[in-house]
Amino acid sequence: MPKPMIEVTQLHKSFGSLEILKGIDLDVHQGEIVVIIGPSGSGKSTLLRCLNCLELPTSGTVKVEGENFADSSGRYNEKRVAKLRTEIGMVFQSFNLFPMMTAVENVMAAQVKIRKKSKEEARKTAEKYLKKVGLAERMDHYPDQLSGGQKQRVAIARALAMEPHIMLFDEATSALDPELVGEVLKVIRELADEGMTMVLVTHEMRFAEEIGDRIIFMDKGMIVEEGKPDELFNAPKHQRTKLFINQVL
Ligand code: ADP
Ligand code: MG
Repeated sequence: MPKPMIEVTQLHKSFGSLEILKGIDLDVHQGEIVVIIGPSGSGKSTLLRCLNCLELPTSGTVKVEGENFADSSGRYNEKRVAKLRTEIGMVFQSFNLFPMMTAVENVMAAQVKIRKKSKEEARKTAEKYLKKVGLAERMDHYPDQLSGGQKQRVAIARALAMEPHIMLFDEATSALDPELVGEVLKVIRELADEGMTMVLVTHEMRFAEEIGDRIIFMDKGMIVEEGKPDELFNAPKHQRTKLFINQVL
């Protein structure tokens, strides 16, 4: 087995006296699609945020492509973290677009600022990825002229324009009206088909079952159970997993 793209070892994370992650071990391999499910407050977002150094572990390690970016020392090298952030793209529930910039300008911004690309080059790349997410006709629109599904697709294009090796999605469709969920899932499905390594947190159980190579069920800061979608959804082993799946399906 080749080395994992992401290697999480005994990750603990506390906020004050509250321990949110209680010893997470997780490997994600190249091209793998790992879906994290679990009740609200179980630590799913905190785990994803630890994967790209938006949070530092209280103890334990997170390695990305074999490099240790964050550890319990509480210190990290800015340059390495900046590099990590270009390797891992992240899409949030809230789209976080700049309201005063058009779609194409939103997708260009980080390329110019972080990747130090020229404006022309950044625009070319931005146009390529906006086309990819089906927004060729919307490039010059401002966020408030776009639907939620379109805004989220701009956010995905913005992440992809950095040409990451790994994509993290944290409830990317949770803020969308039901009729707009499909257009965003379609883009994620296409990335999966292209072999992108992904970690997704989602409440869309059918989508999780369809797209995931592996499903991880978290509760109270721990991985309770993991397995292939068919096993986890149809024959969960733990009582807590059963209860959760019965509630959400
Ligand atoms: P999930 O994504 O599974 O709903 P989260 O990782 O967002 O769970 O949150 C788990 C717990 O951690 C929640 O109780 C939340 O209030 C707490 N938490 C998350 N971030 C912070 C923070 N920056 N400071 C204090 N508590 C936090
Ligand atoms: Mg969350």
